[in-house]
Amino acid sequence: PLDLDFFRRFLDRATRVIVAESAYLTDLDAAIGDADHGANLKRGFTSAAEAVAAEPPATPGALLTAVGVHLTNTVGGASGPLYGTVLRRMGKVLGEDPVVEPETLGRALGAAVASVRRLGDSAPGDKTMVDALQPAADAYTAALPQGVVAALDAAARAAREGAGATVPLQARRGRASYLGERSIGHQDPGATSSAMLVTALYEATD
Ligand code: ADP
Ligand code: MG
Ligand code: MG
Repeated sequence: PLDLDFFRRFLDRATRVIVAESAYLTDLDAAIGDADHGANLKRGFTSAAEAVAAEPPATPGALLTAVGVHLTNTVGGASGPLYGTVLRRMGKVLGEDPVVEPETLGRALGAAVASVRRLGDSAPGDKTMVDALQPAADAYTAALPQGVVAALDAAARAAREGAGATVPLQARRGRASYLGERSIGHQDPGATSSAMLVTALYEATD
């Protein structure tokens, strides 16, 4: 069930993968940005995980909202407000339900992607986190008739595929866009971290 324990496992796995892959994410950002993406997210997720451990939220929605507020306040850079928006918007859609319906999670994912696109003025193909998050939200909805585990599996696969597909793209948003054609040939750091986060959501199912 998509209960508080499920979302706690998600946060736990998300924090662990971000910490473990922090140097890799920063290396990706060194190629087309300012070499801080992994460090930014590591700081944000470890501090968010500590905050919710100290003051445990009572519902899945409250947990995601607390993490989102924390990311916005601690990550800095472009990705802080964007990931903050993802988590806060998801938290808002989940509301106060103690157990989240799979359909509600789908609506939350869709709303979260829409708010990133609005805030970042970004769309699929711009070589940003949207290139992982949009396919993930779409794949979740498409696979939901097969069940929530299959839907999260499909979402995680689509996010990883979307992140890989940013390599040949030219960046149109964020710092990487300043490089113009020189941004081609590198995987987008934010799309890569997004794929890790969606994968953490899938892995929270077991
Ligand atoms: P900064 O670029 O400020 O140093 P980070 O390095 O933490 O911030 O994050 C960079 C990532 O943020 C990019 O790889 C991209 O995926 C994402 N990003 C940047 N600008 C936008 C935007 N306008 N819309 C969506 N995502 C964006
Ligand atoms: Mg950066
Ligand atoms: Mg920066």
